[in-house]
Amino acid sequence: MLKQTYIHQILTSTAKWTPWNPTTGCTKVSDACRYCYAETTSLFLMRRGIPTYSNGFLPIFHDARLLDIASYRHPRRIFVDAMSDLFHDHFSETQINAVLDAIYEHPQHIYFILTKRPERMHFILADRPQHRNLCVGVTVESDEYAWRAEYLHSVQERFVTFVNCEPLLGPISTLPRDGIDICFAAPEAGPHRRPSAPEWFTTLEHYCDTNNILYIGHRFDIRSDAGKRPIWP
Ligand code: SF4
Repeated sequence: MLKQTYIHQILTSTAKWTPWNPTTGCTKVSDACRYCYAETTSLFLMRRGIPTYSNGFLPIFHDARLLDIASYRHPRRIFVDAMSDLFHDHFSETQINAVLDAIYEHPQHIYFILTKRPERMHFILADRPQHRNLCVGVTVESDEYAWRAEYLHSVQERFVTFVNCEPLLGPISTLPRDGIDICFAAPEAGPHRRPSAPEWFTTLEHYCDTNNILYIGHRFDIRSDAGKRPIWP
């Protein structure tokens, strides 16, 4: 099957979105992390006395959660580690590979893994075979972090690759021309959102169009475009 065909199937899937967090907690690495949703939520849940978040936003591996995806009777779209970064240094290669093993053992689900630590992602995924339902992406919030997308080139043949330009915090004009299947883009959300310029989105969309990258995103600030969020959860 052509890759464009299964990318289309992934993007048009109506399977239920399901968060799966075998890891929680993280530490900040770049501008996009400043108002980290996962941190805010973790600290809120800690104050509410939720045991998983009793240590707030400290990175923790949850062995028991590796079994969760085996219990889903129907295919799901699974956002892996929305409350963390799977490739954080705190997690051992053994732990990260245990998460990947679970993903390979249940290929019926669609998985999205997003990281801001692409060097480690690149290293750990080096020997993994093709998985058509595994989408691997990096955050690029501005040109300063476009280098992260360079690491997608080596995995594009085996996985669906994406850049997530959310929150878009500056113009992006130096993404690599190869290695990226999809580009998601959106302004920052939440009470502390930093404004995005409309031309950052139009420039990015034009770049994607001319380099065979599927662009999915907002052109304008969410405040003037409410209710039109793309498929990204
Ligand atoms: S890498 Fe992701 S989860 Fe970690 S602090 Fe940054 S935004 Fe939050």
